[in-house]
Amino acid sequence: MNVAAENETDLRHYTGPDGRGWICDNCGETIKNAGDGWVQWLSLPSESGNRGARDLSLVHHFPASPRKGSREHGCQFDEKFEFRKDRSIVCDLSLDSFCGADGLMHLLSLFADEKIPHGDLLTMIMRIHTPGYERARLHFDRAIAEGVVEPNLPEGFHWQKDITAVLRWAERQKR
Ligand SMILES: [Zn+2]
Repeated sequence: MNVAAENETDLRHYTGPDGRGWICDNCGETIKNAGDGWVQWLSLPSESGNRGARDLSLVHHFPASPRKGSREHGCQFDEKFEFRKDRSIVCDLSLDSFCGADGLMHLLSLFADEKIPHGDLLTMIMRIHTPGYERARLHFDRAIAEGVVEPNLPEGFHWQKDITAVLRWAERQKR
């Protein structure tokens, strides 16, 4: 954890558990620090009996979005479009509010809310807090199929040594 992360009062400059930032779910570009990131999801209307939430995602905050010049909402949800689709309401918070020890507690508290699917929450927690996971997650399926690692945890969970092995393997594939 870098120095910024130890200062719980301002995590906007925190560059993630491996110092490489995060990858935007919308544009695929790097979110350099927590201040440039945005966590968002769509809360479904409870009266429809469809109580829940969809599309938990990590994207660029509008001012930092590479798409801000070409798309009205940058990488963030288009609230009107999503509402028209299924009357869902945008819920969102800055990425820095989910970093550090209190940020982790904040994410864990969302399990009690029971709206966001738990699998999506687990993935988001690992993306924000587990070193190497954000990039390794893009290669796990292929790396496992090719026998690079043989995970011995339930599906979707990975030890640091496996994350490191997958990242090294992915780096070699690029050459
Ligand atoms: Zn983006």
